[in-house]
Amino acid sequence: TSPAPPDFQEITPTAPIAAATHGWRAKCLQRLIRLGLPVPRTVALSSDAVRAIAAGRAPDTAALWSGLGEVLVSVRPSARNPDWGGPGTMLNIGMNDRQHAVLCARHGAARADVLYLRFVQSYAIHVARLDPDLFAGLAAESADTTPGESIETALRLYEQETDEPFPQDPARQLAEVLRSMARAWEGTSARLLRQAKGAPADAGLGLVVQRMALGIGQGECGTGAIQFVDGTTGRPQITGRYRRQAQRPHPHDEGSTAEELFLTHDPRGPSLQDLCPEVYADLCAHGEICRARLREEMQIEFTLEDGRLAVLDAVRVGRSSRAAVAIAVSLARDGIIPREEAIRRVEPRALSELLHRQVDPRGPRDVFARGIAASPGAAQGRIVFTSDGAQASAARGEPCILVRRETAPEDIRGMHAAAGVLTERGGTTSHAAVIARGLGLPCVVGASDLRINLRDRTLATRDGRVFAEGEVITVDGTRGEALAGEVAMLEPAPDDAFRTLLDWADTIRDIGIRANADTPQDARIARDFHAEGIGLCRTEHMFFEGDRLTVMREMIFADSPEERAAALERLLPMQRADFLHLFEIMHGLPVCIRLFDLPLHEFLPQSRDGLLELAKALDRPLSDVTRRAEALAEFNPMLGMRGVRLGITFPEIYEMQARAIFEAAVESAARGRPAVPEIMIPLVSAVREVELIKTRLESVAAAVRNSSGQPLTFRLGVMVETPRAALRAGEIATHVAFLSFGTNDLTQMTYGLSRDDAGRFMGAYVQAGVYPEDPFHTLDVDGVGELLLTGAARARRTRPDLTLAVCGEHGGNAESIAFCRMAGFDYVSCSPFRVPVARLAAAHLAL
Ligand code: PEP
Ligand code: MG
Repeated sequence: TSPAPPDFQEITPTAPIAAATHGWRAKCLQRLIRLGLPVPRTVALSSDAVRAIAAGRAPDTAALWSGLGEVLVSVRPSARNPDWGGPGTMLNIGMNDRQHAVLCARHGAARADVLYLRFVQSYAIHVARLDPDLFAGLAAESADTTPGESIETALRLYEQETDEPFPQDPARQLAEVLRSMARAWEGTSARLLRQAKGAPADAGLGLVVQRMALGIGQGECGTGAIQFVDGTTGRPQITGRYRRQAQRPHPHDEGSTAEELFLTHDPRGPSLQDLCPEVYADLCAHGEICRARLREEMQIEFTLEDGRLAVLDAVRVGRSSRAAVAIAVSLARDGIIPREEAIRRVEPRALSELLHRQVDPRGPRDVFARGIAASPGAAQGRIVFTSDGAQASAARGEPCILVRRETAPEDIRGMHAAAGVLTERGGTTSHAAVIARGLGLPCVVGASDLRINLRDRTLATRDGRVFAEGEVITVDGTRGEALAGEVAMLEPAPDDAFRTLLDWADTIRDIGIRANADTPQDARIARDFHAEGIGLCRTEHMFFEGDRLTVMREMIFADSPEERAAALERLLPMQRADFLHLFEIMHGLPVCIRLFDLPLHEFLPQSRDGLLELAKALDRPLSDVTRRAEALAEFNPMLGMRGVRLGITFPEIYEMQARAIFEAAVESAARGRPAVPEIMIPLVSAVREVELIKTRLESVAAAVRNSSGQPLTFRLGVMVETPRAALRAGEIATHVAFLSFGTNDLTQMTYGLSRDDAGRFMGAYVQAGVYPEDPFHTLDVDGVGELLLTGAARARRTRPDLTLAVCGEHGGNAESIAFCRMAGFDYVSCSPFRVPVARLAAAHLAL
């Protein structure tokens, strides 16, 4: 057997110190020492040594104490990963009556008293585990007692409570501190806390013992921390603090009179830069060395003792997502890290924080409801319960939150007018969620503890809180929470660094990223975020605004093919203009247009008032309109006359759309913007559906070629949204140029799980581990994934050059993109606002 490792390892440039054995802090201190920074003598304990101490082994602290020069020392935690936390730092170990006397003689009783009193308090509370309240009134600068009396009282209290005098032996103090820190790490709550941050169950703790630089005494003394970038923006800026005649802030320090100086020259008062220009210059030089050699922006903790600088510690600067991007890009631009490393350092999900307003995490949160985080960002406004209310509110210039049980297509106008959306029902791919993501609108769905009472226009929580229409609430779509009142917000900042990082990501990734875009506004956002085309244009979404809805409804109510043809004739120029607009905005990039996919009744009003209005608009009796709407209603509209079934039953609808697409393409080419449209057939389950629609589309194309005298090509594709289409993909592939998997419906149909109702039990299901995650959010690799693999393999066997894509909501999810890339897909398509996240996630995969 090998000899037991030594308990203590002095940190020198060559000592065998590693983050895995001694923790990140020990490793970082060694790096600082190697870089020549003035770090006081420091000794590291490995996690094995700390574990043995927790188990009862007595460390040889007498040797350690004399090795460090018999002066005061500090002990700090050093876990493998700084995020895993650890017990708090203990300062001034070694303080006793003798040291107190020495310090009194050297620095005066007042300063010596503060150190001693604080140490007794800390030791009593953290090592002897006495009640902090016992020592609460004993401030060193308290008006009621002299500091000397306070020390006496503290020592007496300690002895009363523990039945022994306060330990005077520094080696014993140190041994007890090490033992208590080692045991604190093993405590249940500490364990749970670090496991929540990703620490493994057996994560160990290292400790570092450092000779104290006191920060008090003659000459310029004090302590501070300095960093060279702003933690919120990531821009170069010196920030931090410096306090004279002080040690690092202490919990019992509230009334401290230590003088605080500015770090850099400041007309408002004295600064470290003015008082000690050399120290200041050294600190700046240390910062630069750390940045260049540790390849990171560090915050340096320092102490001055009679004008001499000691660097106690350095930690990675805490940063917002925006700062993380700015820092990574700036390090790469300066050649300190390669671009690949800059890309690796930014978590894709964090980018969405730069695209939307966010609730300021530092502010208070009064959460009254929780649901599914359906669309990121935060918004606040007055509660409205109807789309009319939302539009009226928008007209008054007042932000509002649209609160609904669930949304239907006719709520789109309300969603356009609202600042945010909150629904009682629904899941990740319910109507509200999909539309909100497309609009970049913060949204929480499936807040099932809420009850909306439309009669008295209130919103109630299960525990009895009631919010009336007009009251201000905040929707946090990033966390899936609804908050009472207004809260502090952080503004979005897709800045230059953000764009640069994404441009770099594009040079690395090897899977295409397109956007799902229905309107010119979506398309502009998609272009702005460098989507490589439109992967899904849901054409039915083009008809929920203004006059268009009425014409659409006329078409639905047509009694004869002639009447229908007349309505379609009016829809044609609208659609042609829509497509022309999209082609122009996308500038030659592919635009994939999906033919109508919607149960017709969804175009009809749901309420009696709405039906009455429609009857007036169509100049028909209400009973007629109502009967018609009832006739169109289906028991399960998601599995009814949707998609291609509509196209086969009423061929003239798809023919109108095809004509509009082709004429727009010809027109776009005439304007110098040639476009190759892609047309996609939704909800296919049988190859014959494809054959029938293909023949019709080709004959419309031939007619447009004839009438315009212009060449015209298009690419035909099928949406694979039913399990049968995936299984028959080999046969379907013979007729088309591409397949795009609509994983929203494919998930719904594979599980037999309604995407609009899943929110009701999804939380419980995930919590109970029935599903590892919401399959509408993260692709179910085992089930739906197998259909993707099977479909892709069968299709490619028939047509090796076939383009394969995913255009369901999963297209914007990092894990799902990884699966698609592995399966050899050509691109994914997601909501415009998710494009940046997808670009970065895809680059991570290719690194
Ligand atoms: C899908 O089903 O995955 C899809 C993209 O279509 P929609 O969400 O419009 O049903
Ligand atoms: Mg679908």
